Amino acid sequence: MAASVVTGPSVEKSIAPLRSFVTEPMRFGRLFLAGDAAHIVPPTGAKGLNLAASDVGYLASGLTEHYQARSDAGLDAYSERCLARIWKAERFSWWFTSLMHRFPDGGDFALKMQHAELHYLTDSAPAATALAENYVGLPL
Ligand SMILES: Cc1cc2nc3c(=O)[nH]c(=O)nc-3n(C[C@H](O)[C@H](O)[C@H](O)COP(=O)(O)OP(=O)(O)OC[C@H]3O[C@@H](n4cnc5c(N)ncnc54)[C@H](O)[C@@H]3O)c2cc1C
Repeated sequence: MAASVVTGPSVEKSIAPLRSFVTEPMRFGRLFLAGDAAHIVPPTGAKGLNLAASDVGYLASGLTEHYQARSDAGLDAYSERCLARIWKAERFSWWFTSLMHRFPDGGDFALKMQHAELHYLTDSAPAATALAENYVGLPL
């Protein structure tokens, strides 16, 4: 089956930097930051777009409340609400990256730690459950 796949030329290649970054707060007066403008996660956890969507969901409900109910409660809570979710995703993505990638300054000790952590994940149901819970996404 795989042998019958016709391959084409690779048209785009780039190296994704493994960065973790958060801007807080995510509001300055009437300016609201959302998505990658406010936070970056390394790609290992596949969380960037999901975080951007949850930011925008919170912002949309805050703006609706502002215009329909004349209440700023949602907008005032926007940054704190987003950041509670963002920091958990940042933690998971940062941890998962440190587990799945080798870094030049790591050395033998870091490699042994990675192996120990991987064995723990495959041997322990609670550890595997915690990974799965974070990987599929925390509730909104
Ligand atoms: C290779 C790769 C794989 C990824 N895989 C996943 C994944 O599996 N799951 C996941 O959740 N996330 C993934 N991400 C992350 C995800 O793509 C981003 O976190 C997400 O797109 C951020 O959305 P955003 O709207 O904040 O920014 P963007 O999607 O970057 O949108 C910003 C937009 O603003 C436009 N823009 C920029 N400057 C200006 C300007 N001056 N004026 C007008 N427009 C402007 C840009 O052209 C762009 O269209 C991946 C990212 C990459 C690079």
